Amino acid sequence: MPTIVVLGAGVSGLTCALELAKQGGHEITVVAKHMPGDYDIEYTSPWAGANVLPMALDKDSRWERRTWPVLRRLAKEVPEAGLHVQTARVLRREKDVATGLKAALADGLFQFDPWYKEVMDNFREIPANELPKGMHSGCEFMSVCINTAIYLPWLVGQCAKYGVQFKRGIVKHISQAHNLSHTGKKADIVVNATGVLACKLGGVMDKTVYPARGQIVVVRNEAKGFMPTSSGCDDADDEIMYVMQRALGGGTILGGTYMKHNWDPNPDPNIAVRIMKRAVEAHPELTDGKGIEALSIIRHGVGLRPAREGGVRIEKEKIDGTWVVHNYGHAGWGYQGSYGCAEKVVELVDEIVKQEKRQSKL
Ligand code: FAD
Repeated sequence: MPTIVVLGAGVSGLTCALELAKQGGHEITVVAKHMPGDYDIEYTSPWAGANVLPMALDKDSRWERRTWPVLRRLAKEVPEAGLHVQTARVLRREKDVATGLKAALADGLFQFDPWYKEVMDNFREIPANELPKGMHSGCEFMSVCINTAIYLPWLVGQCAKYGVQFKRGIVKHISQAHNLSHTGKKADIVVNATGVLACKLGGVMDKTVYPARGQIVVVRNEAKGFMPTSSGCDDADDEIMYVMQRALGGGTILGGTYMKHNWDPNPDPNIAVRIMKRAVEAHPELTDGKGIEALSIIRHGVGLRPAREGGVRIEKEKIDGTWVVHNYGHAGWGYQGSYGCAEKVVELVDEIVKQEKRQSKL
């Protein structure tokens, strides 16, 4: 039976471990420095909102297309997973459209006539008379919001149900990971799901990986009904606006920032005020029309999106005689692409197992 070590217990590593375990026929160990329950600047997944706002361009949309049906099913049929259905509202500002939506069009979310209109349920263009002031156009569709504090532990529980074992561990070099299987045997395959730390991991040292710093404010106020986001904001080029209410009492996430190459783990109080002002302006129901003083703050937070020049890396590579399947660099879409990426990891693992069996090594 092939032995697999999954390095990393963020949404990427856990989803891979689960999908591999469901397939059966593997001995799987998840090894990680951080596990669900931890809050650390080196561990991105707990800080995410998280919701589904398709970001890829059509050519790279496989990961999100394949993930959406799974997240929708979890939201509708598996309440204990911590997801609920919410309406996403994507707004293009007049001033951004006037300048050609240059910044916003770097991803697919704000495109006119987007590919995801065929994929996301209940998609509709927002009629002009329903648009907020200053907005050129926009669309709405059915999405989900994930309470990551519930969902990550739920993934651990699902993995455990299928026999996955968990271990804490820090590896300095990827080749150390194959010694960490709970079976005591050397792992045949290591899945590298180390997120932003892939740029510091020996044997990988991917210098195209960088953090895109996201600052958030979590509040008790409810943002009923819809999750707005807009194509830009007046405050700064690397600041953004989004609001989403998490399932099962997880509070409401107000965001945010997208600060490239910024590793600062500390919430900036001035940015926090701007985040709250933008959120209350876009979603006045949050405070019943009152100002930010009426927000009840649970906590301020910062997470580092694992961005990568050239996009996500999902590929196999032999390092020091061990097969490694990489799955890192998901930037701001790690949840909404998680099952699509895990599906590709399963394919690559299958290819390796078949190849090695042909050569009678497994
Ligand atoms: P991580 O969660 O960082 O996990 C990495 C794992 O690897 C950890 O367990 C770590 O301990 C382990 N590790 C790393 N190096 C080592 C080592 N050397 N030895 C042992 N263990 C190691 N995505 C969405 O889909 N929707 C959203 O709405 C959304 N909103 C976001 C909002 C914010 C503010 C932020 C910050 C992110 C958001 N994201 C969102 C992006 C999403 O959170 C990330 O893409 C995703 O969490 C990346 O997960 P990961 O498993 O690859 O990395």
